[in-house]
Amino acid sequence: MSHISGVKKLTHSSSLTSAALPRFGVKTEQEDALARELNDLNKWGLNIFHVAEYSNSRPLSCIMFAIFQERDLLKTFRIPVDTFITYVMTLEDHYHANVAYHNSLHAADVTQSTHVLLSTPALDAVFTDLEILAALFAAAIHDVDHPGVSNQFLINTNSELALMYNDESVLENHHLAVGFKLLHEENCDIFQNLTKRQRQSLRKLVIDMVLATDMSKHMSLLADLKTMVETKKVTSSGVLMLDHYNDRIQVLRNMVHCADLSNPTKPLAVYRQWTERIMEEFFRQGDKERERGMEISPMCDKHTASVEKSQVGFIDYIVHPLWETWGDLVHPDAQEILDTLEDNRDWYQSTIPQSPSPPPDAPHNELESKFQFELTLEGETGQDGDPSHNHIDSHGQEAKREDEEADEWVPPPLTLYPGVLPVQDGHVPF
Ligand SMILES: [Zn+2]
Repeated sequence: MSHISGVKKLTHSSSLTSAALPRFGVKTEQEDALARELNDLNKWGLNIFHVAEYSNSRPLSCIMFAIFQERDLLKTFRIPVDTFITYVMTLEDHYHANVAYHNSLHAADVTQSTHVLLSTPALDAVFTDLEILAALFAAAIHDVDHPGVSNQFLINTNSELALMYNDESVLENHHLAVGFKLLHEENCDIFQNLTKRQRQSLRKLVIDMVLATDMSKHMSLLADLKTMVETKKVTSSGVLMLDHYNDRIQVLRNMVHCADLSNPTKPLAVYRQWTERIMEEFFRQGDKERERGMEISPMCDKHTASVEKSQVGFIDYIVHPLWETWGDLVHPDAQEILDTLEDNRDWYQSTIPQSPSPPPDAPHNELESKFQFELTLEGETGQDGDPSHNHIDSHGQEAKREDEEADEWVPPPLTLYPGVLPVQDGHVPF
């Protein structure tokens, strides 16, 4: 317990002098191709897979360098460039390259997505430079040293990490500890020239944002965001008025959460690659569970999982409600993102293999019950313990029980997750 697990000794400084600094912060033979890709730095459609390919598999270091240059953050916070590169390379090295989804490519993706969301017109000049720095740093570290298994798996296997964090947001606490600890490595303290107060407030912001990426917080985050949308005030030019700290951090934690759940809003070809990766990671977890004789988490069984249905359910129950609310907050800035999300949902829906429908009053069959998506607010148990309370009909839409009041918003009980979805006591693996 005297040290943070996963922190490795690495040196990057020796090879770095300002004179020898590569154009994009990383050594590459394909600088021109990388430059072309980075023309899309400020766009939702940037292809981070290409950035990885042209940057010698250093997408996180490269995208962080590009974003910090673009936003002039090195100058604003007097971050020495060699310290910055040393830190981001060390950070990137602490993501596991052999984990299929939660590796540095995902971190780079979430960081770049956060960078684009920070520039949405409705939030123009709303955030301070320190808040922007905190949001980008939070995105960059938010999954560092991820082992490729969920919080629930770590808890169920009595892992050291679960022990360390008493089963509460185990991974998210660990990502934060590692992300901050790495600042202590040689020539890694990118915040060395911040004042004590700036460091304190940055740390508080980052902790808040990364803890909010725990999917078991999703429902309460969304509920608060809905309340904010209902009471939102905008200036005459359509910019949100967020005068209080609590309002600004609430938007920031939802922004990073949206970026973390942005795969289905990206161009279909990119989204499909993410789906493949998350399913591979889930199936590996399922294999581990099978080997240990544990119950296999939903969506983690390679023999029975339906990739397409999971994605449709993921969008219908988690991603669309979140992005729709974000869209209301920054209206009309997110219209294109929402359109892509809906097109992608329809594409996955159209790829679901059709099977003959069961007779109308047949009891739920096994296949059907697999796709009962239940979502429970954190700390809340199922309303009536009946897992069939809500279920997805053949169109992937929620079928309400007739006795439910139509206009009452029922917090989606429990937790379905597609590629993210293990329904386990409200815990899900993202
Ligand atoms: Zn993530």
